[in-house]
Amino acid sequence: MLRVNENYSRIQASYLFTEIAHRVAAHQAAHPEAQIIRLGIGDVTEPLCPAVVAALHRAVDDEATRENFHGYGPEQGYAFLREAAAKADFQDRGVDIAADEIFVSDGAKCDCGNIQELFGMDVKIAVGDPVYPVYVDTNVMAGRTGANEGGRYAGLTYLTCDASNGFVPGPESAAGCDIVYLCYPNNPTGAVATKAQLQAWVDWANANKALILFDAAYEAFIRTPGIPHSIYECAGARSCAIEFRSYSKTAGFTGVRCGYTVVPKGLVAYTADGAPVELRPMWTRRQTTKFNGASYLTQRGAAAIYTPEGQAQTKATIDFYLENGRLMKEALQALGYTVTGGGDSPYLWVNVNGESWAFFDRLLKEANVVTTPGAGFGRAGEGYIRISSFNSRANVLEAIDRIGKILK
Ligand SMILES: *Cc1c(COP(=O)(O)O)cnc(C)c1O
Repeated sequence: MLRVNENYSRIQASYLFTEIAHRVAAHQAAHPEAQIIRLGIGDVTEPLCPAVVAALHRAVDDEATRENFHGYGPEQGYAFLREAAAKADFQDRGVDIAADEIFVSDGAKCDCGNIQELFGMDVKIAVGDPVYPVYVDTNVMAGRTGANEGGRYAGLTYLTCDASNGFVPGPESAAGCDIVYLCYPNNPTGAVATKAQLQAWVDWANANKALILFDAAYEAFIRTPGIPHSIYECAGARSCAIEFRSYSKTAGFTGVRCGYTVVPKGLVAYTADGAPVELRPMWTRRQTTKFNGASYLTQRGAAAIYTPEGQAQTKATIDFYLENGRLMKEALQALGYTVTGGGDSPYLWVNVNGESWAFFDRLLKEANVVTTPGAGFGRAGEGYIRISSFNSRANVLEAIDRIGKILK
């Protein structure tokens, strides 16, 4: 008899986005004339920048000639991209990361999900609450948790992110854990961590032989001077952290698909006997066995982000999203709401002074505006909604106008 992986049956049905889609569809059916504005999406809306588009076209032409054709590439990524990323994202910022510590992939979601394969089944894992669900669900699938009760899995440690800690929990809440997933700027709260806050996590991890899995997918949105763009800006992070980077939000690559993971040389986990095992060769082995590399076209497009034109153009697009966020944040604050995020992140996390879903329904039904109820990201998200800055300026201004009319 064919046995199924019963760990899958523990996964909470992805209730959040199906439920949103269901409510939006019902509202649209009842009000066919309603012009619905979607501020719930975690996907970019602006097209690829010209430097990337030109590089993608050139790469297609390469593939059309015998001399420049590229078949299978190195599983870890082409040197032209690994070297450009190591230089611009780390070395030029004074951070010690080399090209051969960078593993190019088809995006950060896969890497965030796959990395857990390197660790034992009994590692103790800490995640934020609210949280990006990938960190949790991939460990549930692997069998590292018990049942879900009241929205939390037995066996996981949840780090509450709320106003009491400025949405940045410290390591005191992760006592006894071996792995912590940190994401800054955060999805969904939009919060950023200071250098001192991240340093505290690094010091904790080194002292406890623990590991930080640092998701820096929104790094390019950071504008406040002094906020770390990388965990490796903290002293000692090379010996206790893996970092995930993505071109999705940085350069609109959600459809193109490219990102990378940093696994420093010398970073180790331990056998049952306490013998250290280097993670970088393990990740190399994992990727060369199960992954055949991001496409040549994609990597050529990603490398163009690092040209002077690419840098200027992608920055302009992110500035545009940040201005969307600034306009919405200012409007909500003027209406008396407390808002976290924006500024260094595409997300606003709004305290709605009540139930998430009730507020979501009110904005949907009265303003035809779709947001994301915070409760869908975890128990501690109750009482908040997430608003995304990924939209056209016209839609943002229209949404501000409609929301102002119903909430004033
Ligand atoms: C969007 C996002 C990513 C990026 O995923 P890709 O697979 O690179 O598109 C990673 N982490 C978080 C928290 C995100 O919101």
